[in-house]
Amino acid sequence: MKTQVKALVVGGGAVGTSIAYHLAKAGWDDVMLLERDELTSGSTWHAAGLLPLFNMSFATTHIHKYSVDFYKSLEAETGLNAGFAVVGNLRMAQTQERMDEFMLYASTAETCDVPYVWMTPDEIKAKWPLIRTEDLKGALYHNTDGYINPADVTQAMAKGARQRGVEIVRKWQADAFHWNGDAWEVTCTKMVEKGGNLVPSDEQIVITAEHVVTASGNHAQTTAKKLGIKIPAIPVEHQFIVMDQDPALVQFRSEGNVEHPVIRDADAQSYVREERGGWILGVYEKNAPACFEYGVPDSFRADLFPLDLERIEEQYMAMIHRIPSCEESGLKDDFNGPICYTPDGNPLVGPAPGLRNMWLAEGFSFGITAAGGTGYYLAQMMVHGEAEIDMASLDPKRYGNWMTTEFAARKNEECYDHVYILHHPDEERPACRPLRTSPAYDRQATRGAQFGFVNGWERPNYYAPAGFNDHDSRSFRRGGWWQYAVEEAKAIREGVGLIDATAFTKHRITGAGATAFLDWFTTNKLPRVGRINLTYALTAHGTTRTEYTIVRNGENDYYLVSAGAWTAYDQDYLFKAIEDKEAEFGRINAQDVTTQWGVFAIAGPKSRDVLAAVIKDADPATALSNKRFPWLSAQKIELGMCPVNAIRVAYTGELGWELHHPIEMQNYLFDLLEKAGEPHGMKLVGARAQNWLRQEKSYRAFGNELGRDATPLEADLPRFVDLSKDFHGKDAMLEKGIRSKCVTLLIDGPDDADPWGREALYHGDTRVGRLTSGGYSVAFGKSIGMGYVKPELAVVGTQLQVKMLDQLWPAVIVEDSPYDPQNAAIRADG
Ligand SMILES: Cc1cc2nc3c(=O)[nH]c(=O)nc-3n(C[C@H](O)[C@H](O)[C@H](O)COP(=O)(O)OP(=O)(O)OC[C@H]3O[C@@H](n4cnc5c(N)ncnc54)[C@H](O)[C@@H]3O)c2cc1C
Repeated sequence: MKTQVKALVVGGGAVGTSIAYHLAKAGWDDVMLLERDELTSGSTWHAAGLLPLFNMSFATTHIHKYSVDFYKSLEAETGLNAGFAVVGNLRMAQTQERMDEFMLYASTAETCDVPYVWMTPDEIKAKWPLIRTEDLKGALYHNTDGYINPADVTQAMAKGARQRGVEIVRKWQADAFHWNGDAWEVTCTKMVEKGGNLVPSDEQIVITAEHVVTASGNHAQTTAKKLGIKIPAIPVEHQFIVMDQDPALVQFRSEGNVEHPVIRDADAQSYVREERGGWILGVYEKNAPACFEYGVPDSFRADLFPLDLERIEEQYMAMIHRIPSCEESGLKDDFNGPICYTPDGNPLVGPAPGLRNMWLAEGFSFGITAAGGTGYYLAQMMVHGEAEIDMASLDPKRYGNWMTTEFAARKNEECYDHVYILHHPDEERPACRPLRTSPAYDRQATRGAQFGFVNGWERPNYYAPAGFNDHDSRSFRRGGWWQYAVEEAKAIREGVGLIDATAFTKHRITGAGATAFLDWFTTNKLPRVGRINLTYALTAHGTTRTEYTIVRNGENDYYLVSAGAWTAYDQDYLFKAIEDKEAEFGRINAQDVTTQWGVFAIAGPKSRDVLAAVIKDADPATALSNKRFPWLSAQKIELGMCPVNAIRVAYTGELGWELHHPIEMQNYLFDLLEKAGEPHGMKLVGARAQNWLRQEKSYRAFGNELGRDATPLEADLPRFVDLSKDFHGKDAMLEKGIRSKCVTLLIDGPDDADPWGREALYHGDTRVGRLTSGGYSVAFGKSIGMGYVKPELAVVGTQLQVKMLDQLWPAVIVEDSPYDPQNAAIRADG
């Protein structure tokens, strides 16, 4: 057994095994995989083995697609047949809303090259007569996926890994991790059997590894403790039952008919597949409990929980409704096992927070489906520095230190319970809320705020009249909330609105090395003292890692504002870069001040009038004029008794200021502004209207247009990239060239729907790109979107089509900032 390796993978389930395989395939010849028990003895052995391509996320769909293709190739490489039954996957809809959901999903499928077919109830009946179809609206059929034997595919990957030089060691547990500055020293303990339990022996060794990956499945909480970090991966109980033979099915198959596809009845929270003349029924039921919050007991090995039939009765009856012939089949076997979840259902894949060369691959609820692709893309990140797709939506740092065990357990139960709900793009989930509230929360709630959940924060999405029910207003088309967002957007364009932007991520950077560091770390020229700049931190591959608004408060005193959803993600990159560069640039202090500063954004042609009424200044009439407070500058002002760091900038593209204030004075400031706004008809405005307004100005959003799959030049933001200086990622950015380009489109879409920002773009019959944002433009009275297309098409006036609700709708590429391209409104004097 080696004691010195390039990479140590901890965990021999489907995920860890795939990672070891792909690290070796990507060129690392010194990889070891450590498993505390036997390969597949975690959740992998008892998975049903379904490989659904259906997924709403762009990155996850890429991962699943890679797996499905990769598993098909494994037998040729290893000689092991993992029993991949490519029977297809039939996803049925009982309602038009469910069909709408499938049509939205189809956008993701298309942009990821996943083939799909629509089927009518009659077509289903003709092909698979055992399925009851009279209550169906239709179905989405994937004919390229199916199911596989999870243990066999893991063993095939293990064989492939061994063939590529990976050492796989069983019955050793990784127990303690120490970073010595260059490598991890991992203390490992030999595990032994004792009375049926698996327990640590006294035998220990230390393995030195340049990189460590943890793929510890249900043991994630123990792993988190050992690493001293937080990992919101906690399992939930998941059940499926195996039924005895169904004579009608046996007869159907004996007549030469092909196997049924995996049948997903989302409206009945169940999936069904054939198993030796009978059926397997798997369900996502209500009240499935979280488990192992504080670790997996020694006694729980390749074990299961007792079946809880009562919990799945409703879904069982629904299955009999769907496939009536199975009613007489008895129960042959049952599986109730732990299935790992995360609060948003996406696994946690990428660099661990605060640690060097430590990679997480935890929290997989579709781990058999995701294993192949996770190994492939994570290996790219580890070996080459970046994956070919943006993995940010899976990044382990999308939850911050505010996250607790209780939060993760309850949210994960909710996530399980929500697997088959209608996934409206305007969905907001209720569990564990409110949790992080800004002081004005109660006031906003009283005024009708309907809140969204952003990195734990409650942020108003829009304001509605008393009695309005957000849940019932959700839709795949224009939801019941749409009219309120329209009114709010108009208020900003025509009058004045107040937005709560407290969730923004805020860092203060000071010290003798601050200026040189930030000059190297970001793409734009640093602002002069008292001014602000928009700028980008790049990955080593030249793509966008973070978007910052930088305020320069002093020679070596900077205030960095970035997206609210990404605090821990931004901070990890920033702090690690500072640690790396401090010796070169001099002392740099970095402080996360996110929760110290509240932010209100006031915007609209009348915003100056509102502020003028409350600003304390020798000459209030001129304090906010262009001369005294020019656009893109920052000043300390006093609004009533509240000290405010005001920044003259507005993400909505109107005259406006961001008012950064001490959080403990937020209610005072709120009341003051509300009163001052009254004579001007000031409206409280939520994030949805803001999102539409920023698209009218072509302002890119992080996580949409901006991410690790495009450079700022591809995002068409050369004005924020100072090519005359050296900065991190510059050469790589230039080397990438312009592979595709960000554009803004006005869309003549359906009367009752706007794009959500994931739709495919067509030029004639050819797919040429995809939307990354979408919404409604009050200025143009039609749908708007932003997205990426091939550079040769990124020309103003190019006619494209957007695929929405399974139809193509005309769209035209317009000039950047189609609303007020000269920025006259923002610069307005007064
Ligand atoms: C009933 C049921 C049905 C399912 N059906 C499907 C399905 O149809 N399709 C699908 O895609 N997914 C399915 N899943 C989910 C799937 O089983 C998991 O997502 C997947 O197995 C996770 O794989 P993993 O490698 O992350 O974890 P695991 O398989 O749990 O592997 C983790 C391994 O790490 C080892 N380990 C932990 N800590 C250490 C340590 N410190 N040192 C050394 N080793 C360690 C453990 O012993 C374990 O073997 C199902 C789950 C359940 C419960």
